[in-house]
Amino acid sequence: MLGSGSAGNATLVRHAGNRVLLDAGFSYRELSRRLREVRVDPGMLDAILITHGHGDHTRGLRMLSKRHGVRTWATAAVRDEWRSMDGVDWRELAPGAAVDLGGLRFIPFEVPHDASETVAFRIETPEGAIGYATDIGKLTPLLIERFRDCRLLVIESNHATELLRVSPYARSTRERIAGDGGHLSNESLAAFVRDHLGASVRCLVLAHLSRVNNLPELARMTCREALSGSGRTDVDVVVACQDRVTPTIELAAWAQPATSPPAAPRQTALPFPVPPGASPDPAGNEVRSR
Ligand SMILES: [Zn+2]
Ligand SMILES: [Zn+2]
Repeated sequence: MLGSGSAGNATLVRHAGNRVLLDAGFSYRELSRRLREVRVDPGMLDAILITHGHGDHTRGLRMLSKRHGVRTWATAAVRDEWRSMDGVDWRELAPGAAVDLGGLRFIPFEVPHDASETVAFRIETPEGAIGYATDIGKLTPLLIERFRDCRLLVIESNHATELLRVSPYARSTRERIAGDGGHLSNESLAAFVRDHLGASVRCLVLAHLSRVNNLPELARMTCREALSGSGRTDVDVVVACQDRVTPTIELAAWAQPATSPPAAPRQTALPFPVPPGASPDPAGNEVRSR
């Protein structure tokens, strides 16, 4: 995750030399800086996929796409809204129609949110599927089904219900956020974990946290409590940050079934520097949250 929160969202998915950006919600300058931090030059992007037209998902799109001619998939609603963006290499993104990019299959599907044709993704990779939903007003049967057999879920944990209730936001804004077209709360995510989390899920990345109406530790704790209440000790929880890049998560780390003996140490399990004092999993088969 290059960054996620109410002020900007962008995620890089890499596989076999392909680099796909999901959303471009930071300024071009900031996106470029964060991409370089993970050793990707903006000109090396193979594609950009846009979930919806809100500024926290599209802020850097115009400059990124124009300057580097990156193919950009977006729904008709987003393309219409941004028609003034001359020079963007638009491609059609339609709910249910898979986009195949270098061994990765992105399957967009519609989710309720207050922007036209907002989509979430199921991303199929040779090492398991990823569910990706950053802006969702409420859980839907389709999302639950698309996410059930994934290994990694990136899912919204926007606000704590109680913090939103006492928030300085105007009442109409609070109602919009809490409504079915707004954002998913920590508590709604916990209900999803309790009732619908698939047995193959090994990692939950909590995304799109509000700076005003949530706290990273509160989001993590609410999710962890739901996991332990369901006896799920096999799921890592990572809280994505607004302000900095989240360490790379390597899907291959969970390629083995949870019940199999520990794999031999793998160099690729932790492709990011381990901070002094932190000890990586000795079996090298899990990326742990810190
Ligand atoms: Zn949005
Ligand atoms: Zn958003």
